[in-house]
Amino acid sequence: MSELLRPTFDLDLIERYGGEGPRYTSYPTAVQFSDRFGPEALLGAIDESNRLPIPPDLSLYVHVPFCSSPCFYCGCNRVITRSPSAGDEFLATLERELDLIAPRFDADRRIRQLHLGGGTPTFLSVDQLAHLMDLLRSRFRFARDGELGLEVDPRTVDPAGIKRLHEIGFNRISIGVQDLDPAVQQAVNRVHDTAVVSATIGAARAVGFDSISVDLIYGLPLQTTTGFAQTVEIMLSLKPDRLSLFNYAHLPHLFKGQTRIQNDQLPTPSTKLAIFRNTLSRLLDSGYEFIGMDHFALPGDSMVQARANGTLVRNFQGYSTHGGLDLISFGPSAISQIGDSFAQNQRKLQDWRMAVEQGQPATCRGLTRTTDDRVRADIIERVMCTGELVYQEVERFFQMSFRSYFSAELERLEPLADDGLIEWQPGGFRVTAAGLMFLRAIAKVFDAYLVPNREQQGRFSRIV
Ligand code: SF4
Repeated sequence: MSELLRPTFDLDLIERYGGEGPRYTSYPTAVQFSDRFGPEALLGAIDESNRLPIPPDLSLYVHVPFCSSPCFYCGCNRVITRSPSAGDEFLATLERELDLIAPRFDADRRIRQLHLGGGTPTFLSVDQLAHLMDLLRSRFRFARDGELGLEVDPRTVDPAGIKRLHEIGFNRISIGVQDLDPAVQQAVNRVHDTAVVSATIGAARAVGFDSISVDLIYGLPLQTTTGFAQTVEIMLSLKPDRLSLFNYAHLPHLFKGQTRIQNDQLPTPSTKLAIFRNTLSRLLDSGYEFIGMDHFALPGDSMVQARANGTLVRNFQGYSTHGGLDLISFGPSAISQIGDSFAQNQRKLQDWRMAVEQGQPATCRGLTRTTDDRVRADIIERVMCTGELVYQEVERFFQMSFRSYFSAELERLEPLADDGLIEWQPGGFRVTAAGLMFLRAIAKVFDAYLVPNREQQGRFSRIV
């Protein structure tokens, strides 16, 4: 297993390899999902997983789609509303959806991980979230040491609310901060002052959340190197266990809300790169370890241990420490992964609700992986999570000859090796410190759905 390396920053390599690429939260990516995959296919996949000699335990995801105001940079599937009845109506439909699906799983399959994402899970009041937890607990068996996490918008919960979230069972919290500069916050329509963020993190620490994670975004309108450096310094003083540094992808043709961002307020590419370079070195100098892509964590965090011992995995929430689980997801647009099948729910709230009210799972698209997909998924996950590939390990698992199956891919890796992103080793290769920033560029060599050497016409975000 490769040791934890410190990524290096090289403008020339960014120029050549920093273009578009999938984030590989799944392989194949959601772009390949087909509407021929429907509710019956999902239920069939669940039945099949129950018949395995040892059915895997479960990870649960619930997508709470509501937000009370739009952040202009947002690319998530969300519904903007202030309707006081939206939360209760959502929970009523969710209960019906749970009743359609939960009984299909063998009762002894335990929940090891739960994540509430959105939208804004804390659009729901703490009482509504407690009700949601009751709905889940009455239908699934939760492991005692399960990781139960949720995303929190600091504008929506006060310290007393954070305490209650812990009391109802959440032990991980992810806080969307993005930027603390008031001008940037105005420009993206997400205004919260530093004291609120600091109080949220302080409360989460005081009540004993196992992990506190913070999201920052660079590349937002009106950002400057000095302004973002101040945000970073404040965050460092608050010491979250994990920190994500997302690259804002300005794709207004895909996300209508982004048309409200003024192009002339976006930082120039060179300012954006300077922000990224400065933040990267500041985080590493302050003791954060690089996990992969945009994720950093303090040395004591379970993600650092997982990265070091090879148990880190990719899933729809990004990097995760829990491998080998089936993922079952609820709510509009939520994606499940059961064995080799991916199933996505109707994206629109009304369509999701209508499907559930008609008494069937809201699955509207998905796919079942072929053997070729499975091999490539395994390789891509190894590259993204361990930064290393040992051909024999793949050969042993899939009973194939790596060099002949992937001769074209190995040829396409040559220029990356010449540029120092990877180094060949006996029977494999490893990602170098220079290549760590480009894990997606290395992984995409093995993606059979991408046309080599061609940009994907604005479908994916930039790698750096
Ligand atoms: S960024 Fe989060 S809070 Fe803002 S609109 Fe999107 S989903 Fe809602």
